[in-house]
Amino acid sequence: MSSPNPLVQEVLEKYRPIWALEHATGLLEWDLETFMPEDASKPRGFAFAQLALMKQERIREMAGLVAKGQKLDGLSDYERGILRVAKREAHYYTSVPPKLLEELNRTGIEATVVWRRARRKSDFSLFKPWLEKIVDLKRQEAEKLGYEGHPYNALLDRFEEELTVSDLDWIFGGLIPGLKRILGKVLAEGKFPATHPLASVKYDEEEMRRVNAEVLRILGMPEKTFRMDVSTHPFTSGIAVEDVRITTRYEGVDFKATMYSVIHECGHALYELQMDPGLEYTPLARTTSLGVHESQSRFWENVIGRSREFTGLLYPILRKHLPFLEGYSEEDVYRYFNMVKPSLIRVDADELTYNFHIALRYEIEKKLISGELPVSEVPAYWNDKMEEFVGVRPKNDAEGVLQDIHWSGGGIGYFPTYSLGNIIAGMILNRIRKDVNIKDNVRNGNLTPIKIWLKDQVHNSGATYSPKELQRRLLNETYNPQHLANYLEQKYLE
Ligand SMILES: [Zn+2]
Repeated sequence: MSSPNPLVQEVLEKYRPIWALEHATGLLEWDLETFMPEDASKPRGFAFAQLALMKQERIREMAGLVAKGQKLDGLSDYERGILRVAKREAHYYTSVPPKLLEELNRTGIEATVVWRRARRKSDFSLFKPWLEKIVDLKRQEAEKLGYEGHPYNALLDRFEEELTVSDLDWIFGGLIPGLKRILGKVLAEGKFPATHPLASVKYDEEEMRRVNAEVLRILGMPEKTFRMDVSTHPFTSGIAVEDVRITTRYEGVDFKATMYSVIHECGHALYELQMDPGLEYTPLARTTSLGVHESQSRFWENVIGRSREFTGLLYPILRKHLPFLEGYSEEDVYRYFNMVKPSLIRVDADELTYNFHIALRYEIEKKLISGELPVSEVPAYWNDKMEEFVGVRPKNDAEGVLQDIHWSGGGIGYFPTYSLGNIIAGMILNRIRKDVNIKDNVRNGNLTPIKIWLKDQVHNSGATYSPKELQRRLLNETYNPQHLANYLEQKYLE
């Protein structure tokens, strides 16, 4: 990609080595989680730190040029996007002093080690001084970045551009009461079970690998630009538009877990793979936000993957590869895929209860950053809120406040993007239905029209538009939780 504007062209040229540094870091991160020998973490840590410093330097060098670009008129959408993304990067690295950056990184690594031990021993008191330090550093970071209104806004914006506390108060305020009402009815009706015999059936890993290979075939994942491996926690790594990798894990029991992790990560992967290759090596060759990214994984995992039609498509394949399904009907499998169970652990949560887990974390993060909630009171606050939202109370810290890795690494402001993903997936469903007959196409195994629609409307433009701008252009509104509530109501109560 090139630009007729000499200033934008210079930004593009200065960005190329930054792209290459990110490419290298991405590949090293993927390797760390998949194939790296256990004792290789020290040189890997050194390399990460050096690469990060090189990137910071290059971005700081670009800052003056990007500032000048803000005064230009008559630019194309692409040119405006390039300057917007470059400005966000430059703002971060010129506002946060290198000493604070270094301290944030180092504390994140050390605190993660402590968090693992604290979780194993189910003892929050071990992690408490580290969480206090992280909250303190993140408040300093927010002050350096600057914000309007709430200091948490500065941290939210890092993960979801322009997202604010007032957006989230409005989103959760609208979503939570409706979900509680739907959940209450679903639990009373009992049509979607809380337990299912298939959830405790052991599977053979080789058989399940064959099922997952068939899932990749149904989704039409490309063979030459995509690969799947195994890691402890499933993830997607967009190394380049033409090099996207996902992972899954095989726990040996409850086969839907590995299968839906594959569908989820394929949703992420399609976003990366279906970007315009012309954006490669530029600041726009990235997804616009974590919320939009998660909307793609949730759309494929839940809206498509857990539908009746998709279950019908999968059923003969599952029967062919999994001998233990003998005697289970398509309807049995559908109910197994859509169990509803108020539970303590976020990553195990179903579509109906997942957002309660996020609302709880959002309230805590907001109050930690404003100073309203001291770290010492977080476990009790957590347990009370779990009981209020989900109706279950953790018996210890491991199944409560210590369950997630995010805070230990400094990822305060990340959690809300999970709910945004569900919400945007609901909005996209409401919109795509006007153009594509989802049910018929899924029933027939023809996913191409859905993939093409997502490519044209969401994936192709990369980060050209901010997440709010992308939503306004496509959906005429931003983060409206009503469409998710409507979808869940139709699915679970009709
Ligand atoms: Zn995801």
